[in-house]
Amino acid sequence: MMKAKDSVLLEQSIRRGDRRALARAITLVESTRAADRAKAEALLTALLPRTGNAMRIGISGPPGVGKSTFIEAFGVHVIGEGHRLAVLAVDPSSRRSGGSILGDKTRMETLARNPKAFIRPSPAGSTLGGVARRTREAVFLVEAAGFDLVLVETVGVGQSETAVAEMVDLFVLLVSPGGGDELQGIKRGVMELADIVLVTKADGELRPAAARAAADYAHALHLMRPKYPNAVPEVLQVSALEGRGIVDAWSALQDFHQSLQNAGQLAKLRESQLRSWFWNEVQAILSEEILTNKDMVEQARVVEADVVTGRALPYAAARALIRHFRGS
Ligand code: GDP
Repeated sequence: MMKAKDSVLLEQSIRRGDRRALARAITLVESTRAADRAKAEALLTALLPRTGNAMRIGISGPPGVGKSTFIEAFGVHVIGEGHRLAVLAVDPSSRRSGGSILGDKTRMETLARNPKAFIRPSPAGSTLGGVARRTREAVFLVEAAGFDLVLVETVGVGQSETAVAEMVDLFVLLVSPGGGDELQGIKRGVMELADIVLVTKADGELRPAAARAAADYAHALHLMRPKYPNAVPEVLQVSALEGRGIVDAWSALQDFHQSLQNAGQLAKLRESQLRSWFWNEVQAILSEEILTNKDMVEQARVVEADVVTGRALPYAAARALIRHFRGS
């Protein structure tokens, strides 16, 4: 149990940028116990005025594309420039993806040892919504702790990219020099989320393939509906092993972020993200209240049976259930 005094101390330690306090606070935010949730809420509310000051970058790509190697090289570079970097991960399916654990410190050893870096693996959780909420709240915490750059890493398979794109300022897609074949495999929807595409492993024998892949992706992106008017995502080649393109990638990210700010788009983007987060929570809380109410669960089962056997229209049944809820 954390006492009120401990929670004030925790808040102060986070404000000072203490990484151990930050880790404890994120654990608190990730907890599903009601008492912890109340403390997490109080802590986040107290820290809220100190949030929002980081550049939030989503980073995605299929397993093995080189995400952790890139984040390590990129992280060391930006920290060298004086930034403080937090790396969070979203992996709702399981903590393991393609043999590697997202945000695993052993995959980013140099970065993990650096006091200006903070690395946190994905919270465990069965639903994407739950994992996404905890990650959003972790973003707030790292910002309150003074980290001015937040990378939210996710694997480029499934729904998690969309969830990450909805919590960051800009979204980076990492693709391998496999080029054409892989291009077929990457879902159009994921490509449409990208603000910047990085072709990884542009070194040694893979260099010509990386150049071809970059041209293929640039071409494919030109044919797509742009996320922002007149802004086709840039495609750059990087080699984390040789350190090639890291500086250019960082410049491109900064330029993109600056252009969002100049056009007033960043503020609008964050507003709309907060708005949809809020409405998602309203829906989540309502569903949870229904699903944790015994009478409602029973009633829902009856109505659901009518729906699945074709006796009731889903919409009408849902309305009947909510009417019952209001009366309960
Ligand atoms: P992740 O699963 O996307 O995080 O990928 P990893 O960062 O673990 O890298 C997967 C594999 O690709 C590893 O064997 C890396 O050594 C290799 N790799 C990563 N970056 C580069 C690079 O810049 N050049 C080359 N040649 N190999 C790389």
